[in-house]
Amino acid sequence: MIFLLYKGIIIRIERGGIMIDSHAHLFADEFVNNLDEVVSRAKEAGVNKIMAVGFSKETNEKALELAKKYPHYFYLTAGIHPSEASSNYELDLNSLEDFLQKHQVYALGECGLDYHYGLETKEYQLALFEKQIILSIKYNLPLIIHSRDAINDTYELLKRYPEAYGVMHCYSGSKEMAEKFLKLGYYIGLGGPVTFKNARVPKEVATMVPLDKLVIETDSPYLAPVPHRGQTNESSYIKYVLAEIAGLRQMDSLVLERQLDANTIKLFRLED
Ligand SMILES: [Zn+2]
Repeated sequence: MIFLLYKGIIIRIERGGIMIDSHAHLFADEFVNNLDEVVSRAKEAGVNKIMAVGFSKETNEKALELAKKYPHYFYLTAGIHPSEASSNYELDLNSLEDFLQKHQVYALGECGLDYHYGLETKEYQLALFEKQIILSIKYNLPLIIHSRDAINDTYELLKRYPEAYGVMHCYSGSKEMAEKFLKLGYYIGLGGPVTFKNARVPKEVATMVPLDKLVIETDSPYLAPVPHRGQTNESSYIKYVLAEIAGLRQMDSLVLERQLDANTIKLFRLED
């Protein structure tokens, strides 16, 4: 058992438990020299499984390498991020489908829409996302959805495919939109931003999502939680996300951890 003092509250974390980081990119350049240490620290912090989330042709391959290097620890996902959207999207989709057929993939994503950086590729993004939704149905895989400044279009597209399911990763929308995604059956994923001091909306969302529809993540190396905000994020920091949500929901952190793990296992059909 690990005891963590977080914002004045003592949090219990079960060592060797099954805490899961449902979204990380530990194949990133940030970790080329210290991956083994980062993995050791994650294990030490009680993290027992990590989703290795690919988002491009290149990173899907890197995620695959991770899953091979650490079997039953990293779980492979593959997708094409909206920032990759271009007029070549059909070719990218063909190679993604090829990848899905060759490897054991636990989710399709991350994929989605990002109008913050990529408004000029909107047309390609929409086509790329819609085709990935269709692929997820064909291969019966959960979607890992990235949505930035595009929440309405994301919702409208998902609504058209009731057979699709998955998670709104690092959800940053309103409570009202969260209700709508929940109604479609989607899980809500929360990460580092929920710990930020002024993150009023993510904190509200953290308390309104039904317990069986919530998952947590780091999105490592991005979006490190308090008290590491601004630094390189790593999976061991998931404990701060857990602690924050336990505090907000006034729940025992162990009880919460077990529920969140069960949700992630169910969503991605991971082995126990
Ligand atoms: Zn990500």
